[in-house]
Amino acid sequence: MSSNLLKLLLISTPVGPLGSGIGGGVELTLLNLANILQERGHQVTVVAPEGSILESINVVEISGNLQIMAQSQDRDTPIILPPDSVLEKMWDYARQVQNNYDLIINFSYDWLPLYLTPFFHIKVAHWISMGSLTTAMDNIIKKIVEQFPKAVFFHTKTQAETFNFSQKNFIFLQSGISLEQYQFCAKPKNQLAWLGRIAPEKALEDAVSAAKITGIPLKIMGKMQDEAYWDKINQDYPNAPIEYLGFLSTNELQKHLRDCRALLMTPRWVEAFGNVAIEALACGVPVIAYRRGGPTEIVREGETGWLVEPDSVEGLVEAIQKLDKIDRLCCRKQAETEYSLEVWGHRVEKWLFEVIQS
Ligand code: UDP
Repeated sequence: MSSNLLKLLLISTPVGPLGSGIGGGVELTLLNLANILQERGHQVTVVAPEGSILESINVVEISGNLQIMAQSQDRDTPIILPPDSVLEKMWDYARQVQNNYDLIINFSYDWLPLYLTPFFHIKVAHWISMGSLTTAMDNIIKKIVEQFPKAVFFHTKTQAETFNFSQKNFIFLQSGISLEQYQFCAKPKNQLAWLGRIAPEKALEDAVSAAKITGIPLKIMGKMQDEAYWDKINQDYPNAPIEYLGFLSTNELQKHLRDCRALLMTPRWVEAFGNVAIEALACGVPVIAYRRGGPTEIVREGETGWLVEPDSVEGLVEAIQKLDKIDRLCCRKQAETEYSLEVWGHRVEKWLFEVIQS
C-alpha cells in the first residue's frame, strides 16, 4: 500500500444479481459502501453475479448458478454448492486478481469465502449480514474471528451475540444511507408501511393483522420471494386494508414510505440490522418494531418509534395508537446524526486500514 488510497475488491452476495432485491439489505449496504469509498478517493471494483446493475461503479459480472439462501436452511444443513457455482467462480476470480488490490471485502453469508481467508496472499475482510443460522456457518465464522479478529465485521452487537462466541470484542459497523435520496415528510397520510423481502422470517402477517384491527391501510413494498407465503396471508386476512406496491427503486420507495405514519417491522428472526428502519427515519417516519435484533439498537423508544413485545400484534396496535407522541423531525435528525453515508464511510474506512495493518 503506497498511499492512503486503497484498491478494494468488493465481492457481492451469490444469491442474486445486484438490483434484483434477492440479496435483501446486503444490496443497498454494498452499493452505499462502494459509493462512499469511491467518493473518498479509493479505487473500488465490485464482483457480482451476471446481470448486476450498479451505476458509476466498476462491476465484474460472473456467470453461474446462484447460491441457495441461508435463511431457508435448517441448523444442521451441510454446506451447499451447486454445479457451475457463481460463488466458486467469483472467488476464483478474486484469487487470480488479488495482487492488484490491497484488500478484499466479502459480502456473502457463505462458508467458502470464510474458509478461503488464510489461503489468500492479501487480507480478506468479511461483512457478516445475518445472525446465527446454521452450525456449519457458526463454526467457520468462529474460526475466522479467532484467527483474524479485526477482519470480521458485524452490523450490530445483538446480531454478533447470536453466535454465542467466547470472543467479545466484535466490530460493529451498523449501516449508512445517502440522506439526500430520502425526503422528509412532516404530515403523513393515514397509512402505515411495511418494507422487505416477502418471506416467512419477516412475518408480514403480523403487520397485516395490525392493519386489519386498526383499519389503517398498510402499504407493502419489497421483493416477492415466497408467493405461497403471500397467498396464504391473503387467504388468512381476506378483507385487510393492504396494498402490495411491488419491489421499488429507492426513489420510488421513499416517495411512498415518507407519506406513512409509521414503518412496521415484524421480524420473526434476529434481524442483523434492518436497513429499512434507517430509511424510514430518514423520511421522518417513526419505526414500530419488535424488541428483537438490530432494530433494538436503532429505535429510540418514545422518541423515534416504539419497541414492542416480539410477536405481539396487540403490542403493534398499542404502539400505533401512540404515534402522535413521536416528533417526525426527531426521526430525520437521528438519521442525519447517526446514519449518514459520510459518518458511516469514515467509520468503515478506519477499520479497513486496521485490517490491512493487522
Ligand atoms: N427494498 C427495496 N425496494 C422495496 C423494498 C425494500 O429496494 O420495494 C430494500 C430496502 O431498501 C432494504 C432492503 O430491501 O435495503 C431490505 O433490507 P433489510 O436490511 O431491511 O432486510 P434483509 O432483506 O436484509 O433481511
